[in-house]
Amino acid sequence: MPSPSPHTPRVLLVGGGLQSALIALTVLEARPAADLLLLERAARIGGNHTWSFHAGDVPDALRALVDGITEHRWPDYDVAFPERARRVELGYATISSDHLAALVEARCAAAPNARIRTDCDVQSVAPDHVVLAGGERLDADLVVDARGALRDPQSRCGYQKFFGVELETNAAHGVVRPCVMDATVEQIDGFRFLYVLPFSPTRLLVEDTVFSTRPDLETSAWRTRVLHESALRGFTPADVVREEHGVLPMPWSGSGPELQKAGPLRAGYRGRFFHPATGFSFPQALRVAELIARHVDRPQALFAAEDYRGLVRSEQKQARFARFLNRLLFTGVSPATRWTVFQRFYGQPEHVMARFYAGQVSATDRARLLVGKPPRGFSVVSALTGRAIA
Ligand SMILES: Cc1cc2nc3c(=O)[nH]c(=O)nc-3n(C[C@H](O)[C@H](O)[C@H](O)COP(=O)(O)OP(=O)(O)OC[C@H]3O[C@@H](n4cnc5c(N)ncnc54)[C@H](O)[C@@H]3O)c2cc1C
Repeated sequence: MPSPSPHTPRVLLVGGGLQSALIALTVLEARPAADLLLLERAARIGGNHTWSFHAGDVPDALRALVDGITEHRWPDYDVAFPERARRVELGYATISSDHLAALVEARCAAAPNARIRTDCDVQSVAPDHVVLAGGERLDADLVVDARGALRDPQSRCGYQKFFGVELETNAAHGVVRPCVMDATVEQIDGFRFLYVLPFSPTRLLVEDTVFSTRPDLETSAWRTRVLHESALRGFTPADVVREEHGVLPMPWSGSGPELQKAGPLRAGYRGRFFHPATGFSFPQALRVAELIARHVDRPQALFAAEDYRGLVRSEQKQARFARFLNRLLFTGVSPATRWTVFQRFYGQPEHVMARFYAGQVSATDRARLLVGKPPRGFSVVSALTGRAIA
């Protein structure tokens, strides 16, 4: 492997999840000879996820790159509530962990100065180096800490809990587009819906999701429940090819990403670059990846750069609004009627929904999302106390 020229700055990506994968791809696209080292504790990068996103989450400059890594895409999707069903004309797409991992591995293998080290437990992270479990020290010009979520004991939050099964069905399942919220199911433990993504005529992902005030997720009960819902819809599995589950925070206190003066740059979930009201982080991870790619030649200057400061301020503002919405949802609306909030949301014009999901709402969008008749079961007194209604 040719070594980088002496002045090529080295970027160290700590944690091989979504954020680091997107940074690696974006940086190597901009600078194929960049000096990049990605460190992951597990045996392979990527984890076990199906990462979905809206077409509108993708910045223009990264559209070609994201198109090239997308595994499945659809021009529209459905939502269903007890009193509203709608076809949403917004592009939707997914990438699985395996797919993204294979792409990043191939891209790094083809690049002269990019490398992945797996089974590599990083013990400490500093602005210009990291120390591995065995004591080895690795130096860098920019260290990006993307080791995933840190639990914040101070934060008051609700949770998005989900358990999904990827099914190979006995016969064609007949689903032609995603259903990202089917809330016609029984409402248990908060706002509950089914999420269905068709990957092929006989392959689909079915996820049971609840927005709850409690983080518990008992996997065997949830597996039984999602298989039961699948059977009710006629999805008879010949095989359950994969499972995934998660409990994502939906905070209503605390803040968004911090404006850092120096490294290590905390990115991805570790840096609170996620959407508090959806639990998703794909749009934010893309914006951070784009930023780092712009600064890869002079990474030390990143923290003083206007685009870094502008990005963080904008993410903070968006996070404040989303956290306020979470507060209203979890402290103001009774669990049994929370579905009405989402039913109302899906009455909005598509461009408002697109900006909401991308974490880029305007002042007008905020007003549209807040004004009007309060949701059924809404209690101002309860929302003011800020205590979750379980
Ligand atoms: C099952 C699931 C599905 C999701 N689906 C979506 C979705 O559809 N769309 C969306 O936008 N968001 C989704 N999310 C939310 C969020 O986007 C993901 O959690 C995303 O993976 C977060 O990216 P990240 O890079 O910040 O952290 P992670 O992807 O969690 O990556 C962190 C990595 O750091 C590694 N690591 C941790 N500690 C160390 C250490 N000491 N040394 C070395 N490595 C370390 C971990 O092993 C891991 O690989 C989902 C989350 C889950 C759990």
